[in-house]
Amino acid sequence: MNSSTIKPIAMPTSQLSAALHAKCPKCRRGDMFANSGYNLFSQKMNKACPHCGFTFEIEPGYFYVAMFVSYAFNVAEMVTMAVGIYILTGSHNPWAYVIALLGVSVLLSPFNFKFSRVVLLYWLTPGVHYDPDRDRDDYKRPGSL
Ligand SMILES: [Zn+2]
Repeated sequence: MNSSTIKPIAMPTSQLSAALHAKCPKCRRGDMFANSGYNLFSQKMNKACPHCGFTFEIEPGYFYVAMFVSYAFNVAEMVTMAVGIYILTGSHNPWAYVIALLGVSVLLSPFNFKFSRVVLLYWLTPGVHYDPDRDRDDYKRPGSL
C-alpha cells in the first residue's frame, strides 16, 4: 500500500474555538465577518460563508434579535465595571461611574456587535447545527461547479 494515498483523519474544529474566531456555525471554516479583528468604526459581516455558502442572515431582519444578546452583554459589562470601580476606588461620585461606564460601553461595542451575532447563530438559533460534511477541504458549495 502506498503511504501517500492514506489521508490523515482531520479533527473537527471545536465549537468554542470556531465561535471565538467568528467562523461559520455550519462548517466552522469560513469567516462570518469580512474584516477580522477589532474595529471601532467598521464591522462588516459577510452575507454568506465564503467556504460553504451558508447564508448568515437566515431571514430578513434576523439580526435584530442580536440586539437583545448585545444588550445582555452590555448590562453584564456595566455591572462588572461598576462593581470593579467601587471595589477599586470606593468612589461615591456618580460622574466617575457615568464616564467610565459610557467609555466601556463605547469601547466594547464592536465586541458586543460581533459576538452577539456569533452567540445568536451558534447557540440561540434552533435550526443551525454543525455539519461535518461541510468541514472538508473538498466540500463543493451547492450551485458551484
Ligand atoms: Zn460555512
